[in-house]
Amino acid sequence: MTGQLSFESLEELFAYFHSEDRCVEEIFQRKWPHGFVCPRCNHGEAYTIRSRRLPLYECRSCRHQCSLIAGTVMEGSHTALWKWLAAIWLISRTEEGINAVKLSRIIQVTYKTAWAMLHKLRAVMGAADAECPFDHDVRAALTYYGPDHTPLFELHPKEHPYLIAASVHADNSPTYVKMKQVLRNHLSSDKSLLTAGRTAFVSQHVSSITSKIDIMKHHFRFRRPDVLRYIADHVQAWINKTFHGLGGTYLQAYLNEYCYRRNLESQQVSIWERLTEQCLSMNTFTALAWRRCRRTCRKIMPLAA
Ligand SMILES: [Zn+2]
Repeated sequence: MTGQLSFESLEELFAYFHSEDRCVEEIFQRKWPHGFVCPRCNHGEAYTIRSRRLPLYECRSCRHQCSLIAGTVMEGSHTALWKWLAAIWLISRTEEGINAVKLSRIIQVTYKTAWAMLHKLRAVMGAADAECPFDHDVRAALTYYGPDHTPLFELHPKEHPYLIAASVHADNSPTYVKMKQVLRNHLSSDKSLLTAGRTAFVSQHVSSITSKIDIMKHHFRFRRPDVLRYIADHVQAWINKTFHGLGGTYLQAYLNEYCYRRNLESQQVSIWERLTEQCLSMNTFTALAWRRCRRTCRKIMPLAA
């Protein structure tokens, strides 16, 4: 593998990753771009043991053995590497992403496996976002994911409140966007954001160096057209189209997915390249987020999406 890879179609990706050996080579190069490094002692040479499905590397100094996919999003998975790479490519597409039903058909895995793979990728996206708190002017507004027609002044069980927030330029155009669910007990009886909700958002997602934080605590449904409202409408339409609607349990993961793609696209960064890199070289924070997700994926069989 040399430099960045880009694929115009799934057929191109399948042609490139035509064998498991090619996938192994690609992942090795990305994981250890300057050659093998022992995760225990940093030694740079290893014996390769090829008696398993995937190669195992044994450090020539301390004899520690590590698999190719240890410490990656694929750790513990028996799914073929090309299927993982295809899933990363499919979720990287900006126009719609992918749902588990379609993914399971395309890469020939069970629905449960496809659902878990996508949620592991979303966990990586969420962890990447958590490392980027807002560090300059922030504008945010309270909004809801849910059906269009709900009571005006009472929170409907199917309405899921979240804050849509963006770093803004002087001309009010958003740069980096985050969407974070709001606890129901952080809303007042008239559906406005309580101080506790504002404090929770700021403490978790805004850097201490940020001085200007403007949070609209009422739903902006009645205000003039606004770019945050436009983005909120777009994310609702995307969730309804790609996933045919969602409940509140996993909504945050989908909001993270939407923001991840949008932010990288606005920075003109290749989503596929960045996501692959982050999936293969998890730092401690990402690894913890992913392990939490893996536990959830093992326990829960979802109904949809
Ligand atoms: Zn070693």
